[in-house]
Amino acid sequence: MLNLMMDDQLNISMVMEYAEQTAAHVEIVSVLSNGQQHRYTYADAFQRARKLANALDQLQIAAQEPVATLAWNDYRHFELYYAVPCSGRICHTINPRLFPEQIVYIIKHAKNRIVFLDPQFVPLLEKIHSELPLLQHIVVLCAADELPQSSLPNLISYEALIATHPDSYMWPELDERTPSGLCYTSGTTGNPKGVLYSHRSTLLHTLAGCLPNATNLSGADVVLPIVPMFHVNAWGVPYSAAITGCKLVLPGNKAGDGATLTALINQEQVTYAMGVPTVWLALVNHLESSGQQVSSLRRAVSGGAACPLALIERMRAQGIDLEVGWGMTETSPLGSYNRRQPWYDELPSEQYQRQVTLAGRQVFGIRLRIVSPDGQSLPRDGKASGILQARGPWVACGYYGGTPSKGWFDTGDVATINPQGYVCIVDRTKDVIKSGGEWISSIDIENAVMAHPAVLEAAVIGLPHPTWSERPLLVVVPRPTHSVEPSELLEFLKDRVAKWWLPDLCILAEGLPHTATGKVSKKDLREQYQEIQWPQSATQSANAS
Ligand code: AMP
Repeated sequence: MLNLMMDDQLNISMVMEYAEQTAAHVEIVSVLSNGQQHRYTYADAFQRARKLANALDQLQIAAQEPVATLAWNDYRHFELYYAVPCSGRICHTINPRLFPEQIVYIIKHAKNRIVFLDPQFVPLLEKIHSELPLLQHIVVLCAADELPQSSLPNLISYEALIATHPDSYMWPELDERTPSGLCYTSGTTGNPKGVLYSHRSTLLHTLAGCLPNATNLSGADVVLPIVPMFHVNAWGVPYSAAITGCKLVLPGNKAGDGATLTALINQEQVTYAMGVPTVWLALVNHLESSGQQVSSLRRAVSGGAACPLALIERMRAQGIDLEVGWGMTETSPLGSYNRRQPWYDELPSEQYQRQVTLAGRQVFGIRLRIVSPDGQSLPRDGKASGILQARGPWVACGYYGGTPSKGWFDTGDVATINPQGYVCIVDRTKDVIKSGGEWISSIDIENAVMAHPAVLEAAVIGLPHPTWSERPLLVVVPRPTHSVEPSELLEFLKDRVAKWWLPDLCILAEGLPHTATGKVSKKDLREQYQEIQWPQSATQSANAS
């Protein structure tokens, strides 16, 4: 029997229509590269999105053609997030921090004919343009009189492109399975791989992301996505802010600067912000050293990498609940979220500390499980650790240009899941340290050492060892205001991690290598220290398990 419910398609133009009818006058504030601010409303944004859609038609950008962007978080990028997919094309965000050869690979692989880019990325494109014969249209996200001098042919400014077009447009009634967005993920090996989102996956991800046990956004919030719009749809905020009617604050390229963030949060009265742990570190360092406060900011989410307890506690001391989220490009990204529950405060201190650092519970709509290397499902007992797998309507089942596969998606993370459904990310499969046949979690050791007041950043990597196959090396960047000896840090860890987990060696460094998405690049660290000589005494004592 056929059901008798309307078969309306779940597509992004629904988000736009709803926001226009319910949040038309809510503000979108953008920080521009010159430090000035731009303000307008959702109604203004969608009016300009219609002009842009007309411009894309005139340029004869085909249906389902990827439209590339190389841009920070601001209002013009926001307009692309709507005009491109809602007119039937694919919004293809590219991470400008990738190596130029990776960007060339991505643009060629996606066969981009058009790119929208911030003026500051024009020199980058100049360097690689000769390798991109398919690229026909280069649109700089600026006003006509701000167009930079460039050797690139036929540069056009965004404002000139949309200026002459009408602000009316009939958004097509797209099938919900039409592709809407494309984001390449750069693994540590091989070429980047494209994750192709659909209108349906984006809409369902948006709805789930707003649930009370996830971001819990509402019209009372002012939301600041510090996570860049070129990485996994800025965790979905450009859409979830619109359906909840939040004022949206887009920080441009000022994401990593604690002082600028503090000023912006205070000026716009931001209540909720999203970013990777390094961003929160920059913010809290600034708050502690300057004595300034951000009293409107009640909650923030940390994702993209493990969040150390020390950071959560330092943020709490500033009145901010830092909640942990887990996800990846292939999961749109939201997979699990640790929304602080009232019962956390009743837990004994050690359990509380563990609870707040967990990656949270799977959000409704995603299913998570852990399996052994031979694919056997493992118990959700909080003890067994295995390869984390995911499935659900916003989880990838293949990569752009490839064929879809069936079954669960292998995340490449190692995790435990406890009987309450809380996920603990133990490590990346390739970062986990195998010593004497047992697994050591680099994340746990890093979290423990981050509690030392002299530690600014820390990473633990496994390196080959003649007896134990691998042993952990701890690399620490000390805070500039503190001096510390490696032996003191190892001593500090002694009663915080299992004896046989204790790193054999600690090295102080001036900085750590980071990937294009701001995470510590353990691959680079492993290469850097591959010739390390293990100290004799520590090697002998490492066996005590
Ligand atoms: P990406 O696709 O670049 O966003 O990277 C996704 C990867 O980041 C995941 O597979 C995890 O390894 C890591 N990650 C994301 N969130 C967390 C978290 N809360 N704790 C630990 N690792 C995380």
